Amino acid sequence: MVTPSRITLARKRRGMTLADLSEGARISLQSLSNYETGRTAPRRATMGRIAEALDFPEAFFEGPDLDELPADGISWRARSKTSARKLDAARAAGTLGAVLYDWIDRRFRLPATDVPSFTKPDPETVAGMVRTRWGLGTAPAPNMVHLIEAHGVRAVSLAPDYAEVDAFAVWRDGTPFVFLSTMKTVERGRFDAAHELGHLVMHGSDRECSGPEAERQANDFASAFLMPASSVLGHMPRGAHVDQIIEGRSIWKVSAMALTYRMHDLGLLTDWQYRSVCTELSKRGYRTDEPQGMKKRETSQILTKVFQALWANGVRPAAVASELGMSSEEMSKMLFGLTASIADSGGKRTEGHAQRRTLSLVH
Ligand SMILES: [Zn+2]
Repeated sequence: MVTPSRITLARKRRGMTLADLSEGARISLQSLSNYETGRTAPRRATMGRIAEALDFPEAFFEGPDLDELPADGISWRARSKTSARKLDAARAAGTLGAVLYDWIDRRFRLPATDVPSFTKPDPETVAGMVRTRWGLGTAPAPNMVHLIEAHGVRAVSLAPDYAEVDAFAVWRDGTPFVFLSTMKTVERGRFDAAHELGHLVMHGSDRECSGPEAERQANDFASAFLMPASSVLGHMPRGAHVDQIIEGRSIWKVSAMALTYRMHDLGLLTDWQYRSVCTELSKRGYRTDEPQGMKKRETSQILTKVFQALWANGVRPAAVASELGMSSEEMSKMLFGLTASIADSGGKRTEGHAQRRTLSLVH
């Protein structure tokens, strides 16, 4: 039995139109359309060609209907510049990520959701409220992925095919999800995680979560969350030189550009100083890159622990992928490249075969 919605989802995941797939699988547009609406079911050989063109295992198409991520609830970074097809593809990838977490949720107890919803008063204050609630005070933020995970956010990495989508966040049935690019500098990855946290806190699925105003709010939230005002004012001198800024960025693990922006925002740089620091940073390559920046990407602690625990119980990543009807490659794109390192370490087999069903996480 083929589930029609799964053909549509896989097609969107690959960024293909109906015409693309009809050509790739050598079937008529009308037949394909009928398969996707469920009017008729494809024969086995035809389904084989569709699966091959979509590069999905045939088993994928036999699973139950999938709970798609809500299109309206997603905060896209650059909707205007990105084609609808790319956004559909990223959303389909996100749906598959959520399916993976459904599978994990049935086997492990993950941290409870503790992401507050604050629409007021302003991003700066809201960032401080979340910090207080999470017991961070004004200390530099720790590993951002570990931090949001410890408060119930499910983090998934985005396949490199969606570099222009960057990152996005969405609430799905009361559970917050964040999808992160692994193509950017480590510092920008941290800023993305904080930005998406801002969307989750300030723009729930019932509120306007896209557009320039929402983006500005999420950026202001991220800036204030990563670089609390009192902390920056206490460490950075007024009118700081570009070299002091480059050195100072490591306190908060942010990009030199982000710290420059924050210092201007807090009145530590005049308009003129801000522009001249930006020009100098650009000249030195800091606009698009982060020379001598952080080396180690922040990745998921939950996925690492889950796949280590599975490994210790004799369950390999490939078996999980197969159970979900995905290829191992498809699944590994969601796992921040962690499966390879888990395999290298032999999954830390020393734990033996204890039936660990609970993950207690610390950050
Ligand atoms: Zn955004």
